[in-house]
Amino acid sequence: MPRKRLEKHVVESAKWRASWAGGSKYEVRNFDIVHFTVDMKTRDCSCRLWGLCELPCPHAVCAIYAHNGDPEEFVENCYSIDTYAHCYVDSINPINGKNIFTTFTAFIAFTTTTGDTQEEGLRS
Ligand SMILES: [Zn+2]
Repeated sequence: MPRKRLEKHVVESAKWRASWAGGSKYEVRNFDIVHFTVDMKTRDCSCRLWGLCELPCPHAVCAIYAHNGDPEEFVENCYSIDTYAHCYVDSINPINGKNIFTTFTAFIAFTTTTGDTQEEGLRS
């Protein structure tokens, strides 16, 4: 799924133009007055999508291409196949069906604002 999203961002990046602003920073703008700042070093764009999804946004992809980079190198490791395989290396224990769950009723006691003690039944 991240690959499709990245491919979409690559297509959308064609609508933007990046201008190097010094160091690792770029100003990315379209043909209107909208523009964003991208910092390649901190992997951040002022639209905040890159920092939120850990996947380069269209503005970042535009800046990456201007920097002669490959957008896939800027995708976080959490989206890699190795990380996915590592997360699911252990088996998941099976559970019984809902029809054989045991039910019970528990009571909790609480004190009201008037000082009376009451019980309320909880059913799970
Ligand atoms: Zn952006």
